[in-house]
Amino acid sequence: MIFDFFIVGQGIAGSTLAWHLWEEGVNFKVFNVTKKESSSMVAAGLYNPVTGRKMVKTWNADLLFPYLESFYQRIEQKTNQSFLYPKPIYRPFVSVEEQNDWLAKADNKAFAAYVEKIATSSLFPGVLNDPWGGILLKSSGYLDVPAYLKASQAFFNRQQVYQEVSFGWQDLRITKDKDYAEIGGQKARHLIFCEGPEAIKNPFFHWLPFHLVKGEILYIKPEERQEVVFNRGIFILPVGEECKVGSTYDHHDLSYQTTSEGRTFLEEKIQKLCKLRYQVSGQIAGIRPATQDRKPFIGIHPEHKPLGIFNGLGTKGVSLAPYYAKQFTLRLLEGQFLDTEVDIQRFNHLYNSVLT
Ligand SMILES: Cc1cc2nc3c(=O)[nH]c(=O)nc-3n(C[C@H](O)[C@H](O)[C@H](O)COP(=O)(O)OP(=O)(O)OC[C@H]3O[C@@H](n4cnc5c(N)ncnc54)[C@H](O)[C@@H]3O)c2cc1C
Repeated sequence: MIFDFFIVGQGIAGSTLAWHLWEEGVNFKVFNVTKKESSSMVAAGLYNPVTGRKMVKTWNADLLFPYLESFYQRIEQKTNQSFLYPKPIYRPFVSVEEQNDWLAKADNKAFAAYVEKIATSSLFPGVLNDPWGGILLKSSGYLDVPAYLKASQAFFNRQQVYQEVSFGWQDLRITKDKDYAEIGGQKARHLIFCEGPEAIKNPFFHWLPFHLVKGEILYIKPEERQEVVFNRGIFILPVGEECKVGSTYDHHDLSYQTTSEGRTFLEEKIQKLCKLRYQVSGQIAGIRPATQDRKPFIGIHPEHKPLGIFNGLGTKGVSLAPYYAKQFTLRLLEGQFLDTEVDIQRFNHLYNSVLT
């Protein structure tokens, strides 16, 4: 049997691409090793349309956000599981100037889909340090990523298209005519690598300028249960009785170990942002597959046409994956164009320099 696709990796990227291929009725097989420290298993899963220190609309929000909730809800229905939790995110202002800027934007149609309310005085007195008020966002929330991966894996397992195995590049053969990728006697027309940060070891794609970033998250148990996500400098995301607090950013230490520096950094930020009394109940670390230009790496290998990549989702896998998995599927099946900003062709010069 010749498959249309092999997918290597079943994090947010591999799962979301697999769902789009499934919906198109093509035949594929997923190879994956489940690891509790993989980026997707560690991710807080937030999707937030207004991000960064300067509180700007996140890159391509108007393309990504209208699609993402409908996609994850569709998969909830297919798998009969729950993993998407739309929730308001509250971002306190840091100055009266910032408050004025946002009041001026209040009638700006560009933000209408994302801003529920602009508050000019504290919305959470006694809980938050927000003397200038803040913005309450909508079209936001979080994906319980481990639950999404588990439901997807169970579904693909039942369809007998999932294999729990470590994929070895050394066993991969590209047929002489370059029409197929072959592994262990099985052939596919396309093999798409969705390996997250492991891609830096992939001999076919290691030339892409990844810029991996470690992140740590603290679990805390506040004395009072919270409902709204707070986000300024850090996020405080309520999940049941606990809250996840993140994240740190470290480009140098790329280990999976949690650190006392990470904990101190996050605890100092909690104290600056709010007045919550809490106990620390856990700490985890993961590596984000970020890229030099902060845009995803999507596309076909410049030389080996059966090979492709869907990676580089960086800090925003939850919001980037659905829209770009759909776009990549249309590229693979119908030859449509990828956005030049995400297409790995923008780095073909680096591949050529590896060859010479
Ligand atoms: C601390 C932290 C907080 C984060 N918070 C958020 C957030 O709030 N919102 C958000 O959108 N994003 C967040 N992210 C980023 C998000 O986690 C990533 O964008 C996303 O998980 C990347 O998914 P991926 O599928 O590309 O990679 P991964 O999740 O790493 O998945 C790759 C999969 O491929 C498997 N694999 C790799 N190589 C092989 C092989 N050779 N054979 C078989 N299997 C293989 C791995 O085991 C893994 O299962 C966070 C990340 C971190 C670290």
